[in-house]
Amino acid sequence: MLVELRNLRKHFTLGGGLSFRRGTVFAVDGVSFGIAAGETFALVGESGCGKTTIAKMVLMLERPSSGAVHFGGIDLQAMSGAETRSYRRQVQAVFQDPFASLNPRLRVKTIIAEPILTQERVERAVLRRRIEELLDIVGLPAGAADLFPHEFSGGQRQRIAIARALAPNPRFIVLDEPISALDVSIRAQILNLLADIQQRFGLTYLVIAHDLALVEHFSDRVGVMYLGNLVESGPTAEVFAQPRHPYTQALLASVLRPDPDHRPRVDAIRGEIASAMSPPSGCKFHPRCPHALEHCAVEAPAWRDLGGGCAAACHLLETSHAQSA
Ligand code: SF4
Repeated sequence: MLVELRNLRKHFTLGGGLSFRRGTVFAVDGVSFGIAAGETFALVGESGCGKTTIAKMVLMLERPSSGAVHFGGIDLQAMSGAETRSYRRQVQAVFQDPFASLNPRLRVKTIIAEPILTQERVERAVLRRRIEELLDIVGLPAGAADLFPHEFSGGQRQRIAIARALAPNPRFIVLDEPISALDVSIRAQILNLLADIQQRFGLTYLVIAHDLALVEHFSDRVGVMYLGNLVESGPTAEVFAQPRHPYTQALLASVLRPDPDHRPRVDAIRGEIASAMSPPSGCKFHPRCPHALEHCAVEAPAWRDLGGGCAAACHLLETSHAQSA
């Protein structure tokens, strides 16, 4: 695996000062998964499920409370200064809002040059050629280099953000809701561009998304998160065809599909996601689960390997496994 999360946790302590809310937020509560080189792994779930906090820990913007992120077999927290600088070059990010992620006071050439110049000294003419090459890769004319971000549309700005991410020749890119702020009409173009550059440069992607259509068509494997935990993971096609966890079933049922025969027939998700400050006991999904068993409120289900690369955490799967054994 190129990237591995091992029992990763991030707990925030609130309180002190003028804050009236005290306690611990269990934002990420023991998450493990791996991403193979060249694959696209998507993390999905409602807002507040912990997927963005995971992205921040992978990008070294947050330190884990416990557990670890490994890249190429090395724990990020144990990296030397040189290894950390190399990691920061090899791992880049494209964020949701291209209006907020590009500095409006800098010309495009400066924005794209920045990650190159933090790594190496480059002659001005060589740098200009490299910037123009990157603009060409993302489908923008060379003249775009001399303009400011406000002179572009949202889709064009996201292309600039992608060019900046590509500039230091990364191996791994975190895509945090990469198309959700864009017009529906240009989303497919940006996804096609991301797919093209993945093929061309052998990139590995971690996609953070709440858009299940994007996940279904764009990712190789998917992890479904609920209140800080992974509840199901597997090859995307398998998980979408046969969701095993009641939460995944409910999430998929909430999406209208063009072919009603292929819409999963399960109860729609009910209620609100609980607070990560006071998560429910046992299975955290039990207050909303239409299939909850008596002991679901008491005992957290174990992570169970279901074969074919699929796994999930639900007592129902233990029961059906026991019955079929
Ligand atoms: Fe529902 Fe129980 Fe499974 Fe949780 S463990 S998803 S409450 S059946």
